Amino acid sequence: MNNLYGSFMAPQNFSVNDGDGIRTIIFFAGCPLRCKWCANPEGLYIDNNLVYKYSAEQILKIIERQEIFYRYSGGGVTFSGGEATLQKDMLRELVNKLYDRGINLAIETSGYFKFEEVKDIFKKFDLIFIDLKHMDDIKHKIFTGVSNEKILYNIKRLNEINDNVVVRIPLIESVNADKENILKTAKYVKANIKNPKIELLPYHNFGDEKYDLLGIEKPSRDFKIPSAEKIQELIELIQADGVKLVSYK
Ligand code: SF4
Repeated sequence: MNNLYGSFMAPQNFSVNDGDGIRTIIFFAGCPLRCKWCANPEGLYIDNNLVYKYSAEQILKIIERQEIFYRYSGGGVTFSGGEATLQKDMLRELVNKLYDRGINLAIETSGYFKFEEVKDIFKKFDLIFIDLKHMDDIKHKIFTGVSNEKILYNIKRLNEINDNVVVRIPLIESVNADKENILKTAKYVKANIKNPKIELLPYHNFGDEKYDLLGIEKPSRDFKIPSAEKIQELIELIQADGVKLVSYK
């Protein structure tokens, strides 16, 4: 075992979201995006006094203690963040070790990475959740700080190496929860993923308190959850386009 260290937020055991069965979520610190609604402000930077430094060995020990729960529930480990690929050497080390032990592996990614640098890692996941926050590049830049070009490209490339790619849309009123954007997203997913699947994640404001506790100003508090009727309308739109709607929440 080498002596690789990384920056993480506190791991979460017994999660039943973000993949099948009972899971451990490993949250990597650091993210190249700055979504105006981000619910994890403590994890935006790799180096700050809010994150924990763990060695690969320490993370693997945390996971090892939970293995019995994975076995009986069909669960496993999900890597989240922040953006896990920002610390690609650590991610690779953990994924390779856990893959060899036959543990079910999932990742939640912002989709913002250089594909060729992490292709080998993504081949080993049982399930990939990739965010697509807006089809309109200008709006994507306004709301997340980066272009959607790399993300759209990576969705296509992930499809070439993995059969289980789910595109996730954080659904936010007046940002992306409109028919035009959702229809465009569904069409893109249908055209570029062989088993086209979308998961809608209606916006929540659970992160607001963290901004207060950290003394960081949230970029915007004006975001709203779309109404149940609106969500239903968008679900029907996605399904009518031949894309499967999934839910892991
Ligand atoms: S990609 Fe996720 S972690 Fe990164 S800024 Fe956006 S919401 Fe926050």
